[in-house]
Amino acid sequence: MTRIFAALAALAAALAACSPAQSQAVQAPAPAAKDPLLTPIAPDYARQWLGETAPAHIHGNTWLVGFEGLNVGLIRTKTGAILIDGALPQAVPAIEAHLKALGVPLSDVKYILSTEPHYDHSGGLAALARDTGATVVASPQAAQVLARGRSGPDDPQSSSLERFPAVQRLRPIADGQTLRLGDVVVTARATPGHTPGSMSWTWRSCEGKDCRDVVFASSLNPIASGGYKYSDPANRALHDGFLKTFKAFRAMPCDILITAHPSQSGGDVKLAKLRAQPKPNPFIDPAACRTYADTHQALFEKRLAKETGR
Ligand SMILES: [Zn+2]
Repeated sequence: MTRIFAALAALAAALAACSPAQSQAVQAPAPAAKDPLLTPIAPDYARQWLGETAPAHIHGNTWLVGFEGLNVGLIRTKTGAILIDGALPQAVPAIEAHLKALGVPLSDVKYILSTEPHYDHSGGLAALARDTGATVVASPQAAQVLARGRSGPDDPQSSSLERFPAVQRLRPIADGQTLRLGDVVVTARATPGHTPGSMSWTWRSCEGKDCRDVVFASSLNPIASGGYKYSDPANRALHDGFLKTFKAFRAMPCDILITAHPSQSGGDVKLAKLRAQPKPNPFIDPAACRTYADTHQALFEKRLAKETGR
Protein backbone atom coordinates (compact mmCIF):
# COMPACT_ATOMS: atom_id res chain seq x y z
CA MET A 1 0.00 0.00 0.00
CA THR A 2 2.77 2.39 1.05
CA ARG A 3 4.68 1.54 -2.08
CA ILE A 4 1.66 2.31 -4.27
CA PHE A 5 1.17 5.60 -2.45
CA ALA A 6 4.83 6.52 -2.97
CA ALA A 7 4.57 5.68 -6.65
CA LEU A 8 1.47 7.86 -6.98
CA ALA A 9 3.20 10.72 -5.19
CA ALA A 10 6.16 10.45 -7.57
CA LEU A 11 3.80 10.48 -10.54
CA ALA A 12 1.99 13.55 -9.17
CA ALA A 13 5.33 15.33 -8.71
CA ALA A 14 6.33 14.48 -12.28
CA LEU A 15 3.04 15.83 -13.60
CA ALA A 16 3.36 18.99 -11.52
CA ALA A 17 6.79 19.55 -13.03
CA CYS A 18 5.20 19.40 -16.49
CA SER A 19 2.46 21.86 -15.70
CA PRO A 20 4.18 25.23 -16.36
CA ALA A 21 4.67 24.28 -20.02
CA GLN A 22 1.13 22.93 -20.26
CA SER A 23 -0.37 26.11 -18.83
CA GLN A 24 0.87 28.01 -21.91
CA ALA A 25 -1.76 26.23 -24.01
CA VAL A 26 -4.61 28.50 -25.07
CA GLN A 27 -6.86 26.02 -26.86
CA ALA A 28 -10.18 25.15 -25.30
CA PRO A 29 -10.13 21.62 -23.97
CA ALA A 30 -12.65 19.23 -25.50
CA PRO A 31 -15.84 19.34 -23.38
CA ALA A 32 -16.15 16.39 -21.03
CA ALA A 33 -19.11 14.59 -22.55
CA LYS A 34 -20.10 12.94 -19.29
CA ASP A 35 -20.15 16.09 -17.19
CA PRO A 36 -23.90 16.65 -16.60
CA LEU A 37 -23.36 20.38 -16.08
CA LEU A 38 -21.92 20.65 -19.61
CA THR A 39 -24.70 18.79 -21.44
CA PRO A 40 -25.40 20.93 -24.51
CA ILE A 41 -28.71 22.81 -24.72
CA ALA A 42 -30.25 23.42 -28.15
CA PRO A 43 -26.87 22.83 -29.83
CA ASP A 44 -27.95 23.58 -33.40
CA TYR A 45 -29.60 26.84 -32.45
CA ALA A 46 -26.86 27.73 -30.00
CA ARG A 47 -24.14 27.44 -32.62
CA GLN A 48 -25.11 30.82 -34.06
CA TRP A 49 -24.45 32.46 -30.66
CA LEU A 50 -21.26 30.59 -29.84
CA GLY A 51 -19.00 31.61 -32.72
CA GLU A 52 -15.42 31.56 -31.43
CA THR A 53 -13.78 34.90 -30.83
CA ALA A 54 -10.63 35.77 -28.88
CA PRO A 55 -10.95 37.51 -25.50
CA ALA A 56 -11.03 41.28 -25.91
CA HIS A 57 -9.86 44.13 -23.69
CA ILE A 58 -12.63 46.76 -23.82
CA HIS A 59 -11.39 49.39 -21.33
CA GLY A 60 -9.44 49.56 -18.05
CA ASN A 61 -10.69 46.72 -15.88
CA THR A 62 -13.24 45.48 -18.46
CA TRP A 63 -12.85 42.50 -20.80
CA LEU A 64 -15.02 40.20 -22.88
CA VAL A 65 -14.41 36.46 -22.65
CA GLY A 66 -17.43 35.16 -24.54
CA PHE A 67 -18.54 34.65 -28.07
CA GLU A 68 -19.56 36.32 -31.33
CA GLY A 69 -23.26 36.29 -30.50
CA LEU A 70 -23.24 36.11 -26.72
CA ASN A 71 -21.25 38.29 -24.36
CA VAL A 72 -19.55 37.10 -21.19
CA GLY A 73 -18.02 39.97 -19.24
CA LEU A 74 -14.90 39.97 -17.08
CA ILE A 75 -13.99 42.64 -14.53
CA ARG A 76 -10.47 42.34 -13.14
CA THR A 77 -10.00 43.84 -9.69
CA LYS A 78 -7.02 44.05 -7.34
CA THR A 79 -8.24 41.07 -5.33
CA GLY A 80 -9.97 38.82 -7.85
CA ALA A 81 -12.26 38.72 -10.83
CA ILE A 82 -15.97 39.04 -11.55
CA LEU A 83 -17.69 37.34 -14.47
CA ILE A 84 -20.98 38.47 -15.99
CA ASP A 85 -23.21 35.73 -17.42
CA GLY A 86 -22.30 32.14 -18.15
CA ALA A 87 -23.62 31.50 -21.67
CA LEU A 88 -24.63 27.88 -22.35
CA PRO A 89 -23.35 24.74 -20.61
CA GLN A 90 -21.39 23.68 -23.71
CA ALA A 91 -19.69 27.11 -23.74
CA VAL A 92 -18.02 26.74 -20.34
CA PRO A 93 -14.76 25.04 -21.50
CA ALA A 94 -14.17 27.91 -23.96
CA ILE A 95 -14.91 30.58 -21.31
CA GLU A 96 -12.48 28.89 -18.93
CA ALA A 97 -9.84 28.67 -21.69
CA HIS A 98 -10.30 32.40 -22.35
CA LEU A 99 -9.72 33.16 -18.66
CA LYS A 100 -6.58 31.03 -18.62
CA ALA A 101 -5.32 32.74 -21.78
CA LEU A 102 -5.65 36.08 -19.95
CA GLY A 103 -3.77 34.69 -16.95
CA VAL A 104 -6.85 34.64 -14.71
CA PRO A 105 -6.88 31.45 -12.60
CA LEU A 106 -10.40 30.04 -12.16
CA SER A 107 -10.01 30.40 -8.38
CA ASP A 108 -9.64 34.18 -8.85
CA VAL A 109 -13.30 34.46 -9.90
CA LYS A 110 -15.26 35.43 -6.78
CA TYR A 111 -18.63 36.46 -8.24
CA ILE A 112 -20.63 35.66 -11.36
CA LEU A 113 -23.35 38.25 -12.05
CA SER A 114 -26.44 37.16 -13.95
CA THR A 115 -28.38 39.37 -16.37
CA GLU A 116 -31.33 37.01 -16.87
CA PRO A 117 -32.34 33.46 -16.01
CA HIS A 118 -32.67 32.12 -19.57
CA TYR A 119 -30.59 29.15 -20.70
CA ASP A 120 -28.53 31.12 -23.23
CA HIS A 121 -27.07 33.38 -20.51
CA SER A 122 -27.45 31.13 -17.46
CA GLY A 123 -26.95 27.59 -18.76
CA GLY A 124 -23.23 27.69 -17.95
CA LEU A 125 -23.54 29.30 -14.50
CA ALA A 126 -23.71 26.04 -12.52
CA ALA A 127 -20.53 24.63 -14.10
CA LEU A 128 -18.68 27.96 -13.83
CA ALA A 129 -19.67 28.36 -10.17
CA ARG A 130 -18.55 24.82 -9.42
CA ASP A 131 -15.22 25.18 -11.25
CA THR A 132 -14.34 28.60 -9.82
CA GLY A 133 -15.94 28.42 -6.37
CA ALA A 134 -17.65 31.76 -7.12
CA THR A 135 -21.03 32.92 -5.83
CA VAL A 136 -23.69 33.69 -8.46
CA VAL A 137 -25.36 37.07 -7.88
CA ALA A 138 -28.80 37.82 -9.33
CA SER A 139 -32.02 39.71 -8.64
CA PRO A 140 -34.29 38.02 -6.07
CA GLN A 141 -36.71 36.90 -8.83
CA ALA A 142 -33.92 35.58 -11.05
CA ALA A 143 -32.24 33.82 -8.10
CA GLN A 144 -35.41 31.75 -7.61
CA VAL A 145 -35.38 30.70 -11.26
CA LEU A 146 -31.65 29.93 -11.20
CA ALA A 147 -32.07 27.77 -8.11
CA ARG A 148 -34.66 25.65 -9.99
CA GLY A 149 -33.14 25.84 -13.48
CA ARG A 150 -36.58 26.60 -14.81
CA SER A 151 -38.63 29.76 -15.42
CA GLY A 152 -42.03 30.34 -13.86
CA PRO A 153 -45.27 31.26 -15.67
CA ASP A 154 -44.53 34.96 -15.10
CA ASP A 155 -41.80 34.73 -17.77
CA PRO A 156 -43.13 35.84 -21.19
CA GLN A 157 -41.35 32.91 -22.84
CA SER A 158 -42.00 30.27 -20.17
CA SER A 159 -43.90 27.97 -22.54
CA SER A 160 -40.93 27.56 -24.89
CA LEU A 161 -37.86 27.82 -22.65
CA GLU A 162 -35.32 25.03 -22.17
CA ARG A 163 -34.41 23.92 -18.66
CA PHE A 164 -30.81 24.41 -17.55
CA PRO A 165 -28.58 23.19 -14.68
CA ALA A 166 -29.73 24.60 -11.34
CA VAL A 167 -27.31 26.94 -9.56
CA GLN A 168 -26.29 26.03 -6.01
CA ARG A 169 -24.48 29.03 -4.51
CA LEU A 170 -26.63 32.13 -5.00
CA ARG A 171 -26.78 35.59 -3.53
CA PRO A 172 -29.88 37.68 -4.30
CA ILE A 173 -29.24 41.40 -4.64
CA ALA A 174 -31.80 44.20 -4.83
CA ASP A 175 -32.03 47.13 -7.22
CA GLY A 176 -29.47 49.80 -6.35
CA GLN A 177 -27.43 47.59 -4.04
CA THR A 178 -23.69 47.38 -4.55
CA LEU A 179 -21.14 44.61 -4.54
CA ARG A 180 -17.50 45.34 -3.78
CA LEU A 181 -14.45 43.33 -4.79
CA GLY A 182 -11.01 44.86 -4.36
CA ASP A 183 -11.04 48.31 -5.95
CA VAL A 184 -14.26 47.81 -7.92
CA VAL A 185 -17.84 48.56 -6.84
CA VAL A 186 -20.59 47.10 -9.04
CA THR A 187 -24.14 48.45 -8.77
CA ALA A 188 -27.15 46.24 -9.51
CA ARG A 189 -29.85 47.89 -11.67
CA ALA A 190 -33.16 46.10 -11.95
CA THR A 191 -34.15 46.16 -15.63
CA PRO A 192 -37.24 43.91 -15.84
CA GLY A 193 -39.17 43.39 -19.07
CA HIS A 194 -37.59 40.64 -21.15
CA THR A 195 -37.81 38.60 -17.93
CA PRO A 196 -39.24 39.68 -14.55
CA GLY A 197 -35.81 39.24 -12.90
CA SER A 198 -33.59 40.88 -15.50
CA MET A 199 -30.71 42.83 -13.96
CA SER A 200 -28.07 45.10 -15.46
CA TRP A 201 -24.72 45.90 -13.86
CA THR A 202 -22.68 49.11 -13.77
CA TRP A 203 -19.18 49.99 -12.59
CA ARG A 204 -16.32 52.46 -13.18
CA SER A 205 -13.35 51.59 -15.33
CA CYS A 206 -10.19 53.71 -15.48
CA GLU A 207 -7.29 53.83 -17.90
CA GLY A 208 -4.95 56.28 -16.21
CA LYS A 209 -7.06 59.40 -15.73
CA ASP A 210 -9.64 58.33 -18.29
CA CYS A 211 -12.46 56.96 -16.10
CA ARG A 212 -15.69 55.69 -17.64
CA ASP A 213 -19.04 54.31 -16.51
CA VAL A 214 -19.56 50.84 -17.91
CA VAL A 215 -23.01 49.23 -18.26
CA PHE A 216 -23.44 45.51 -18.88
CA ALA A 217 -27.08 45.46 -19.92
CA SER A 218 -29.64 42.69 -19.82
CA SER A 219 -31.51 41.83 -23.00
CA LEU A 220 -34.54 44.08 -23.68
CA ASN A 221 -36.13 41.99 -26.39
CA PRO A 222 -39.94 42.10 -25.97
CA ILE A 223 -40.64 38.56 -27.13
CA ALA A 224 -43.19 36.11 -25.79
CA SER A 225 -44.58 32.67 -26.48
CA GLY A 226 -47.61 30.53 -25.75
CA GLY A 227 -50.13 33.37 -25.98
CA TYR A 228 -48.46 35.55 -23.33
CA LYS A 229 -49.49 39.17 -23.78
CA TYR A 230 -47.72 42.16 -22.25
CA SER A 231 -51.00 44.03 -22.65
CA ASP A 232 -52.91 41.52 -20.48
CA PRO A 233 -53.95 43.30 -17.24
CA ALA A 234 -52.63 40.23 -15.37
CA ASN A 235 -49.14 41.12 -16.68
CA ARG A 236 -49.37 44.80 -15.79
CA ALA A 237 -46.41 44.64 -13.39
CA LEU A 238 -44.03 43.46 -16.11
CA HIS A 239 -45.49 45.91 -18.65
CA ASP A 240 -44.92 48.81 -16.25
CA GLY A 241 -41.54 47.39 -15.27
CA PHE A 242 -40.47 47.49 -18.92
CA LEU A 243 -41.43 51.18 -19.19
CA LYS A 244 -39.42 51.94 -16.03
CA THR A 245 -36.49 50.00 -17.48
CA PHE A 246 -36.42 52.17 -20.62
CA LYS A 247 -36.41 55.28 -18.41
CA ALA A 248 -33.66 53.82 -16.24
CA PHE A 249 -31.40 53.23 -19.24
CA ARG A 250 -31.89 56.81 -20.41
CA ALA A 251 -30.87 58.12 -16.98
CA MET A 252 -27.99 55.71 -16.26
CA PRO A 253 -24.41 57.00 -16.16
CA CYS A 254 -23.22 55.20 -19.28
CA ASP A 255 -20.08 55.78 -21.35
CA ILE A 256 -19.57 52.19 -22.44
CA LEU A 257 -22.49 49.86 -23.15
CA ILE A 258 -22.03 46.10 -23.37
CA THR A 259 -25.22 44.13 -24.04
CA ALA A 260 -25.88 40.48 -23.25
CA HIS A 261 -26.31 39.87 -27.00
CA PRO A 262 -23.67 42.05 -28.73
CA SER A 263 -25.70 42.65 -31.89
CA GLN A 264 -28.50 44.34 -29.91
CA SER A 265 -26.28 47.39 -29.44
CA GLY A 266 -23.91 47.15 -32.41
CA GLY A 267 -21.36 45.47 -30.12
CA ASP A 268 -20.24 43.11 -32.87
CA VAL A 269 -19.40 46.05 -35.14
CA LYS A 270 -17.69 47.93 -32.28
CA LEU A 271 -15.55 44.91 -31.42
CA ALA A 272 -14.43 44.45 -35.03
CA LYS A 273 -13.48 48.15 -35.11
CA LEU A 274 -11.65 47.89 -31.78
CA ARG A 275 -9.60 44.95 -33.02
CA ALA A 276 -8.71 46.79 -36.23
CA GLN A 277 -7.94 50.14 -34.58
CA PRO A 278 -8.20 50.54 -30.79
CA LYS A 279 -8.06 54.36 -30.75
CA PRO A 280 -10.44 56.10 -30.54
CA ASN A 281 -12.19 53.35 -28.57
CA PRO A 282 -15.41 52.57 -30.48
CA PHE A 283 -17.09 51.36 -27.27
CA ILE A 284 -17.01 54.84 -25.74
CA ASP A 285 -20.38 56.29 -26.68
CA PRO A 286 -22.35 58.27 -24.07
CA ALA A 287 -25.50 57.97 -26.23
CA ALA A 288 -25.39 54.16 -26.38
CA CYS A 289 -27.72 53.46 -23.42
CA ARG A 290 -30.29 55.98 -24.69
CA THR A 291 -30.22 54.42 -28.14
CA TYR A 292 -30.56 50.95 -26.59
CA ALA A 293 -33.67 52.09 -24.69
CA ASP A 294 -35.18 53.92 -27.69
CA THR A 295 -34.70 50.99 -30.08
CA HIS A 296 -36.28 48.49 -27.71
CA GLN A 297 -39.09 50.76 -26.53
CA ALA A 298 -40.10 51.10 -30.20
CA LEU A 299 -40.15 47.28 -30.49
CA PHE A 300 -42.18 47.05 -27.28
CA GLU A 301 -44.74 49.56 -28.53
CA LYS A 302 -44.99 47.72 -31.85
CA ARG A 303 -45.63 44.49 -29.95
CA LEU A 304 -48.34 46.13 -27.78
CA ALA A 305 -50.02 47.55 -30.89
CA LYS A 306 -50.06 44.10 -32.49
CA GLU A 307 -51.43 42.48 -29.31
CA THR A 308 -54.26 44.95 -28.98
CA GLY A 309 -54.95 45.29 -32.74
CA ARG A 310 -54.33 49.02 -32.72
ZN1 LIG B 1 -33.65 35.75 -22.86
